[in-house]
Amino acid sequence: MFQKARRKLSVICCFTMAWIVLIIVLCCLHVSEKNMYGQVKALFFLQANTISSDLYASKNISIEWYMRSTGNAQNALSIETGGVPSTLTSVALPQEKQALIQDVKKAIHLAANQGEVSSPIKNIPGTGTVSSKMEQDFFEYTSGKERFLVMDARFFEKEREVDVLYLYSLGSFLQDVRTQRLWFGFIWLASILGLYLFSYLFTSHVLQPLIQNDERQKQFIAFASHELRSPLAVFRTGLSLLKNNPGTEKSQRIFSLLGNEMSRMERFVQDLLCLASMELAGLQFQAQEASLAELLQSIYERYAPLAAQRQLSLTLSIEGQEGYPCLCDPQRIEQAVVILLDNALSYTPAGQQVTLRLFRLRAKCCIQVIDTGIGIPDAEKGNIFGRFYRADPSRSQKGHFGLGLSIAKEICRAHGGRISVCDTDGGGSTFTFPIHHAPGP
Ligand code: ADP
Repeated sequence: MFQKARRKLSVICCFTMAWIVLIIVLCCLHVSEKNMYGQVKALFFLQANTISSDLYASKNISIEWYMRSTGNAQNALSIETGGVPSTLTSVALPQEKQALIQDVKKAIHLAANQGEVSSPIKNIPGTGTVSSKMEQDFFEYTSGKERFLVMDARFFEKEREVDVLYLYSLGSFLQDVRTQRLWFGFIWLASILGLYLFSYLFTSHVLQPLIQNDERQKQFIAFASHELRSPLAVFRTGLSLLKNNPGTEKSQRIFSLLGNEMSRMERFVQDLLCLASMELAGLQFQAQEASLAELLQSIYERYAPLAAQRQLSLTLSIEGQEGYPCLCDPQRIEQAVVILLDNALSYTPAGQQVTLRLFRLRAKCCIQVIDTGIGIPDAEKGNIFGRFYRADPSRSQKGHFGLGLSIAKEICRAHGGRISVCDTDGGGSTFTFPIHHAPGP
């Protein structure tokens, strides 16, 4: 399910970003092509004006000048004096270029008479800088795949009109544009691939907490069903035994067994509800001023007989004379301390010691439950606060579901502290429950 969502999210993410990148690429391309065209036009104006001024001044007009002025073989220059092509033009201009010159002339003539609409000739703004006695017009001419910038200039020399037509080929500019477009297209496609990989990794990072949560929920349900199945099996067997042995001594024992299972199940469901309510809306606290010293004293008095029954010595140690007044939820604190105490009494063998300690550490009041029992291996210390976790399932006792410490952890967190565990000197475990401040609203 998450794999599908991950792929979908990656595609959506990549698709959206690809569009954004495409728009950016197109804008860059547009700006770059405009600049390139501007540079080509500037070069054309420079060459056209040089040709015009050289001709106007009749300066060294030779075949070398002609070849130099036209620039490259794609360009063409036609000079006519009194309507007759100059010898230079007839010699230097190849046949196909002469035909092209005629086409351009016709197009300019037609455009002048009929306007530029659907004509291969388009006027481009530009002014001649040679002389006021010289007329210069500039155009763009398109024929099939070929495009030219055109200068049409005329002036009078010895009462004869000199007509100059200069065609500057845009072939290499168009080639540059095509190459640039190909590069941009390639970069865009490569960026899509990169974006997809990035989106895939990014979405996996985003979905990670959801996957973990889903995993935890599945585990939670699996453990909960497992824990509920065994008492139900006991009920089923117990009821069928009761049916077959009504009113006998055996039935009395079955009744008490079912009662025990019932209390176990009740406690388990209570733990589950407690954790579920913490998940849904956070803990419901009723903060009030309470004396932690009195609270621990009352817990101690209730648990001392149980400890004695298990042949354990339970001691209460409260540092100083103060009552440890604290703004907290005493019932929740009691719930957490009872969980820790219950564990200490369960995991400490007979003849050993359990201590309930209260002391101050800077601004915090700290409750410690210290036992000299079986202890917790270092590798397990980080896990025992997880749900349904039992350090060693084989040694876990009936009525222990692996939920107690996760409840205590949440209660501690809501009181601004962080529950921790360390080894007791000489063996056993010491749990520290700091209470930092009153729970938030
Ligand atoms: P449980 O109900 O199984 O005791 P907890 O969440 O309270 O669940 O504790 C988780 C696990 O941590 C226990 O199963 C046990 O293995 C270990 N543990 C908790 N307290 C102690 C302790 N005082 N001494 C040794 N092991 C402990």
